[in-house]
Amino acid sequence: MIVMKFGGTSVADSEAIARTISIIGGRLDRKPIVVVSALSKVTDLLYKIADSASEGDRKAADEYIETLQSRHITLAEELLEGNPMLEEARTKVADICSELKNFVGAVCALGELTDRSKARIISRGEWLSSTVICYAMNSRGIITNFIDARKMIITSDNHMKGEPDKAEIMKRVPEAVSAAFSGADAVITQGFISSTVKGEPTVLGRGGSDYSASLIGMAVDAESIEIWTDVDGVRTADPRIVPCTKNISRISFEEAAEMAHFGAKVLHPMTIEPAVMKNIPVYVLNSMNPGGEGTAILHSDKIEDGVKSVSYKENILLMNIFSTRMINVSGFLQRVFAAFSEHKVSVDLISTSEANISLTMDGNQDIDAVVGELSKFADVDVDRDKAQISVIGKNIVNLRGLLKQTMSSLKDCNVYMISQGASFVNISFVVDRSSMKDAVREVHRYLFENKDYESGDQRIR
Ligand code: ASP
Ligand code: MG
Repeated sequence: MIVMKFGGTSVADSEAIARTISIIGGRLDRKPIVVVSALSKVTDLLYKIADSASEGDRKAADEYIETLQSRHITLAEELLEGNPMLEEARTKVADICSELKNFVGAVCALGELTDRSKARIISRGEWLSSTVICYAMNSRGIITNFIDARKMIITSDNHMKGEPDKAEIMKRVPEAVSAAFSGADAVITQGFISSTVKGEPTVLGRGGSDYSASLIGMAVDAESIEIWTDVDGVRTADPRIVPCTKNISRISFEEAAEMAHFGAKVLHPMTIEPAVMKNIPVYVLNSMNPGGEGTAILHSDKIEDGVKSVSYKENILLMNIFSTRMINVSGFLQRVFAAFSEHKVSVDLISTSEANISLTMDGNQDIDAVVGELSKFADVDVDRDKAQISVIGKNIVNLRGLLKQTMSSLKDCNVYMISQGASFVNISFVVDRSSMKDAVREVHRYLFENKDYESGDQRIR
């Protein structure tokens, strides 16, 4: 069995879906479990519907739902033109939208939107896309059965970002999948959406369909997990910033996880973990260019040492915690981290010196409560206009000269913090946000566009 996940742009319209179905058609001998996202931009639209509902603006919500419905009806009409299944597909879409409309009406009347209701609203995108695509696959001769992801992807009751219950998922997915495969060439299910054991709606967080795919792959011991997107695999840097990026043909699970965590927007950061558990290769492929090379994410044994990418996080904040009481006092760090844990603020990089701890974190988090707590026993200084650049690659500690190269490419900007991950897979630097783009370009130029550095040759001279 293989898992094939198609993101929003791979199912954006009838043309994209037709292409996607022909890619699936070429893999039927490997028993594909197809996982789909909502059509591109649909989840954003559903967020607007939820916002309007929470503001009690029923008129706006209804208009958005109208847009949602007509987009999916048009899609069904284009994909199923002249097919007897069209009527059924049209009715299903209309039913899903009218149920949504009733639900949103009730939320408006109540004047309150809980996370649970919000999860229910935004999960409709994947439900609609998988419904229409299932009909389209069947109409093209691929016998496809539909699986309700909410019956198998079980999470905690954090409705907007459910924590997967792996034991429950391992039990439920194989059962649901094997039942659905009886008499079928393929099965289709929704990414992103899930539920609690009690059946309350939850979602896995933005971009969570990748995570769904890898959880399913883990549960069925898939031969491989394919993440189909709109770019030719993972690149050495963000091509929107750096002009001469290269495709990376293979990276390790650890490198991919660090890249996702440290800013590369190719995969949902949690995607790698379930694949690692079962050592399942993950391929990132382009549905607009199915013959392209893509990127294979494999066990580290199969990967060469060396720098693979330069990624960045644009909006981070740097916090300096200073206390003379820290010197020779045990338990200080514990107190600091207890404050972060209590207020659910997550930290990226940490570096400590005698009387000072520097930490970075996502700039969008609300840190007031943490700062209040820390200020009871230390001086806290928060600097918001910072960005973080990470150089990622297997065993980069062994690359003599890497730091020199990187630092000399950063010669024109201030570096506020340097952190080398304990895993030896990443070295990160904190710079001013205003100099971030130039710095990323410079570092990339030194490491990847420099004649002295041959990719595949680990030495940097
Ligand atoms: N549709 C969801 C989102 O846009 C999940 C996904 O696409 O992975 O966040
Ligand atoms: Mg998406």
